[in-house]
Amino acid sequence: MTADVTWLDVWTPQEGADRVRALFAGRFEAEPEGTWSAPGRVNLIGEHTDYNGGLCLPIALPHRTYAALRRRDDDIVRLVSAQEPAGLRTVDLADVAPGTVDGWVGYVVGVAWALRQAGHAVSGFDVAIDSCVPYGAGLSSSAALEASTAVALDAVFALGLAASDEGRATLAALCVRAENEIAGAPTGGMDQAASLRSQDGHALLLDCLDGSVRHVPFDLAAHDLALLVVDTRAEHALVDGQYAARRASCEAAAARLGVGTLREVSDDPRGLEWALDKLDDEVQVRRVRHVVNEIDRVTWFVALLDAGEVGLVGTLMNASHASLRDDYEVSCRELDLVVDTARAAGAVGARMTGGGFGGSAIALVAADEVDRVAQTVADAFAEQGLRAPAFLVATAAGPAA
Ligand code: ADP
Ligand code: MG
Repeated sequence: MTADVTWLDVWTPQEGADRVRALFAGRFEAEPEGTWSAPGRVNLIGEHTDYNGGLCLPIALPHRTYAALRRRDDDIVRLVSAQEPAGLRTVDLADVAPGTVDGWVGYVVGVAWALRQAGHAVSGFDVAIDSCVPYGAGLSSSAALEASTAVALDAVFALGLAASDEGRATLAALCVRAENEIAGAPTGGMDQAASLRSQDGHALLLDCLDGSVRHVPFDLAAHDLALLVVDTRAEHALVDGQYAARRASCEAAAARLGVGTLREVSDDPRGLEWALDKLDDEVQVRRVRHVVNEIDRVTWFVALLDAGEVGLVGTLMNASHASLRDDYEVSCRELDLVVDTARAAGAVGARMTGGGFGGSAIALVAADEVDRVAQTVADAFAEQGLRAPAFLVATAAGPAA
C-alpha cells in the first residue's frame, strides 16, 4: 500500500505578515500599526518536567502565528482569527477575569489581562491572527498565539520587555498566567519560553526551577540528519484531565518526600532509589521515576550535542519514549505506532513529544531518508485504518518578534 503523505505548510515571514495584514485591513477597515509573529515549538527531550522544576530542551519551529494589531483609545478588544470562522469577537478588558472568557480569545485577552495585572499600561486593541502552526498537534499553537500577542502589545504600548532576555522571561511568565488563569489550561512554562526566548539555530536548554536558559547549537544538517515531526492527528478525550492528574500526582509525591519540586530529588546525592523507597503509592513511584530519569536524559542529551555526537542522542530519545509510555502513561496507540515504525524504518531514535495522548512524535533520521521514513509511517497508519498523519521537517528557528 502506498498512502498519500501530507506535508504541513510553512509560510515565509513575508507571506505570514502579508496574510495577517490583509485580514486586519479587511475586517477593521484600517491599517495595523504593525505585524508580529511567534513560533510553535517542538521539544527534543525533557517531557512533563517543566512543572516539576526540571530541564527541557525545545526548539522554536519555522511555523509561526502572525498578529496584526492596532491600539484603541478605550478598553475594548476586537479579535479575528483566520483559523476561527465564527468571526469577529469583542471583549471589554475591564470584564476579563478567570472564568469570564470562552474559547480562543482567552489566550489573547489573557495576555493583555496579565500585563495589566503586572502593572503595565495596556488598553484595548484590534487584532487579526493567522497561523501555520497546527492546532492541538502538540506543537504549541497556544503559546505561539500568546507570544505573538505579547510582543505586539510590548511594541505598541512601548513596554520594552521584548528587548532583553530578562524582559522576555517576564513576558513568558505572563503568557503562562494567561493560559492557566484565563484560557484555563494548566500548562507549565516550556512552551512560552520556547516561543519567546529561543535563538535561531539553537535548542533552548530551559531550567524550569530558576528560569535560566542556555542556547545549545543545534544544526542537524551539518551531521546529515533531520528531525521529522509527525502530527498523529489523533483525537483523544480527557487530555486536559490527564495532564492535571499527572501534575497532581507529582505534587503529591513531592509533598510525601518533603521537597518543593521533584527537581530536588534529581539533585539529591542520595539518588532516585532513596526517593522511590519512601513512596508507598505504586503509581507515584512510576511518575517520579519518569520525571527524575527524564531530567537526567536532558543533561545527557545536551552533553552529546556539546560533544558533536548528535548521532548518539537516539538512545536517549528511545528511552524517553519508553518512560513516557510505561512509567508516565501518556502515550497512545498512534504515538507508539509512529515511534515503532520510524525506528523499524531506520530512524536513529524516536519519541512522542509534547503532553501526549495524541499530538506529535519526532524521529531523528538520516537527511536523505526523510521521505522514505514519512512514507513508511503514512503506510502504517493507512494499514491500521487510522486517520492520515501530517509531517514536517523541523529546524531550529528564531523567537517571537
Ligand atoms: P497546542 O498548543 O498543542 O496547539 P492547545 O490545545 O494548547 O494545543 O491550543 C490550541 C488552542 O489554542 C486552539 O483550540 C485555540 O483555542 C487556540 N489557538 C491556537 N492558535 C490559534 C489561532 N491561530 N487562532 C485562534 N486560536 C488559536
Ligand atoms: Mg498548547
